[in-house]
Amino acid sequence: MAKQYKYQLTEKDIPKTWYNIQADLGFDLPPLLHPETKEPTILPPPLFCEAINEQEFSKEREIEIPDPVREIYSSWRPTPLIRAHRLEKALDTPAHLYYKYEGGNPAGSHKPNTAVAQAFYAKEAGVKRLSTETGAGQWGSALAFACGLMDMECKVFMVRASYNQKPYRRVLMETWNAEVVPSPNAETPMGQAFLEQDADHPGSLGIAISEAVFTAGTNDDTNYSLGSVLNHVLMHQTVVGLEALKQFEMADEYPDILVGCIGGGSNFSGFVLPFVREKIVDGKDTRVIAVEPTASPSLTKGLFAFDYGDTAQAAPILKMYTLGHTFIPAPIHAGGLRYHGMAPIVSALHDRGIIEAVAVSQLPVFEAAVQFARAEGIIPAPESAHAVRVAIDEALRAKEEGTAKVIAFNLSGHGHFDMAAYDAYNKGELEDYEYPAEEVEKAVQLLPEVELA
Ligand SMILES: *Cc1c(COP(=O)(O)O)cnc(C)c1O
Repeated sequence: MAKQYKYQLTEKDIPKTWYNIQADLGFDLPPLLHPETKEPTILPPPLFCEAINEQEFSKEREIEIPDPVREIYSSWRPTPLIRAHRLEKALDTPAHLYYKYEGGNPAGSHKPNTAVAQAFYAKEAGVKRLSTETGAGQWGSALAFACGLMDMECKVFMVRASYNQKPYRRVLMETWNAEVVPSPNAETPMGQAFLEQDADHPGSLGIAISEAVFTAGTNDDTNYSLGSVLNHVLMHQTVVGLEALKQFEMADEYPDILVGCIGGGSNFSGFVLPFVREKIVDGKDTRVIAVEPTASPSLTKGLFAFDYGDTAQAAPILKMYTLGHTFIPAPIHAGGLRYHGMAPIVSALHDRGIIEAVAVSQLPVFEAAVQFARAEGIIPAPESAHAVRVAIDEALRAKEEGTAKVIAFNLSGHGHFDMAAYDAYNKGELEDYEYPAEEVEKAVQLLPEVELA
């Protein structure tokens, strides 16, 4: 057997530190602003514990992963880096295609990498319960799983449309002992207001964030937890890229092109930031591509501006690429990519031309997902399939050019809870969605007025 498929590290190789790119950016990220005063702020203290706040603004290059967190990581990390030999053959490409697979843990996506860390720090700070939001349910299930491990309670506001249409993620969360309620919900004032407008309001991630933040802000024993966007979340995910760096050494290759899908930016960042460091510090000329849906194209169609992180303007204001905090994306099956904004780190890297962005639409994404599944076996999450689409496109371009490019993508999760979406695709019932361009003008009108000293 000449070919090697899996590049496997041992538990000893699980990184001992997370990588903080704020040490190497060469510029300061714009401040977080308080939603009311619009003055620079930390993450509001009743919502987040001190350890998380320190990490959010730290300039230390390496931040130690606490032993109990590393120990929990050990039950699914290191994750494999896999050479997609069969897909290469199916595409008849000279490119070398690799993927890092983050779907092999109990929650089925990269999200437990940060959920476990966040639950650990909250538990240490004496917090009894974490509240959060979830769209399709991946983040909610990751946090429910992590809270269970830490013997904490977990309250999840689940976007009502998903709550009604996708019951199995809810059952997963409940089985891990979380309390799951549909959002908007009459138990919060903002939820009540949205339900008065529309008793069957489908909800959105922006609204669910507002409700989870409100719940943490009004209960002493509860902290809030966010699954993406913020600096500390992206940093926790860097275990993915740090492992991949070592695995490429084992393979005796170095990626020419890195690809990841972006909702809030966490799996993409976790995978690429350790390589972006080598780009900034060592002058490597890796192409780094973020892939977003045409239905929610913040990097390719949004404004780079200060905007609210949530719909009800209860969360801090961030400088980011945004489609406007009231924008509700079309109901694509990649629920985890339906967010109006983007992580400030990803936004700043894109603004400075260090990373590229492309938007792809739902049908070609599922076409790539099915092609990948038939060659490699794993059925990708619809979110991850966005990265698959662009990795295949780059492999086909390499074929045209006749170059043996090394292309690597992050397969952020499996799609076992998305069979209804695959069923619709297989029956020819899926639709493409484009972002309505006039929405940007609406977004401009609604941006907060910010004057920085
Ligand atoms: C949540 C999710 C995403 C999108 O979130 P990011 O923070 O951008 O990574 C992507 N893939 C999967 C499998 C997810 O669960």
